Amino acid sequence: MEVAVREDVNVLVFNPGSSSLKYALHRFPEAGDAAANEVIVRVEPDGMAGAAAAVLGKMQGRTIDAVGCRVVHGGSTFVEPARVTDAVVDDIRALSALAPLHNPLALAVIETVQRSLPAAPIVAVFDTAFHQTLPAVAANYALPRDLQVRRYGFHGISYSYVAGRIAELLGPGLRSIVCHLGNGASVCALDGGTSIDTSMGLTPMEGLMMGTRCGDLDPGAVLFLLRRGMNEPGLDDLLNHRSGLLGVSSRTSDVRELEESAAAGDDRARLALEMFAYRAAKYIGAYAVALEGLDALVFTAGIGEHSASMRRRICRRLSFLGIDIDESLNQEQRSGERRISAGRVAVWVIPTNEELEIARATMRTLEGHH
Ligand code: AMP
Repeated sequence: MEVAVREDVNVLVFNPGSSSLKYALHRFPEAGDAAANEVIVRVEPDGMAGAAAAVLGKMQGRTIDAVGCRVVHGGSTFVEPARVTDAVVDDIRALSALAPLHNPLALAVIETVQRSLPAAPIVAVFDTAFHQTLPAVAANYALPRDLQVRRYGFHGISYSYVAGRIAELLGPGLRSIVCHLGNGASVCALDGGTSIDTSMGLTPMEGLMMGTRCGDLDPGAVLFLLRRGMNEPGLDDLLNHRSGLLGVSSRTSDVRELEESAAAGDDRARLALEMFAYRAAKYIGAYAVALEGLDALVFTAGIGEHSASMRRRICRRLSFLGIDIDESLNQEQRSGERRISAGRVAVWVIPTNEELEIARATMRTLEGHH
């Protein structure tokens, strides 16, 4: 591969989100664990292209051998990471119809990198690709087949990283459920590391209640709102930005603030937290059925890693499945990977590392094995 001229290879990773750009510089071969790499995370508010240019500015004086960029929607086109070419850019643009909030952000990053670092190979790493293993019963909606409206699933880069850690920490071949609870939230059923069901679908709106997204909703409610005069942009804004924890609490999407408000007697804040937990617990029950048993339950991302109270609320109803949290382990304030269970099912907190997973996928792609 053309980037392997020197001993070590620097991969710059971009992880664009709807309100932030995370980035990291990873050096290969990996020296021990991720701590050996330089990881920088910054949020830049002024437009994605400008944010990417600012990151590239900070990288001046360093050698960037390759760039990896997260792309949310790969549709049916991308089932593995892809070296960016003009045709790949066109395909990602075409998929923006399915992910209008997300794919254009990745394109802005990719185009900025192409202008600033024309010699660096860029690899697009897709959040949907991990779920290509969904069986037909999980991938389909009960709609006429010729519509080609199907379930893809998201957060795949995070699930891929966590699945790797589960295999290393707990052993291979386990039936596990991973709860990625961040700004966006989803659940994934993993059979020995393979995704067999996940709660997001055609778009990242299906499934769990989220910070500002509604999650599962009667499609009749959308028709009802349309008939009441709401238009498509209004519905998009309502269901993506004004629903979820924010919509139910009429206060905030931040779990910490909601816990404070609930403790101070705010009933709406309490209801928002309880709904979030109730719905997550129902998905865990459903995925224990999909897996026909359960060995491990893992929490990751902002809320999953940091909110002991949300983990407790979710697990409270699940002891009949063998899920029992040790509350003193759950409350421990340390970060990092840790077991928090007392029962038959191993319950773990495993911090996700999407940037490292993107860097590894970038290296594998450029080395020619996927
Ligand atoms: P992420 O999308 O993974 O960056 O997660 C962001 C979410 O994590 C936000 O909704 C935050 O409110 C939430 N979060 C971060 N830290 C904490 C914490 N200590 N307790 C509860 N929620 C948190």
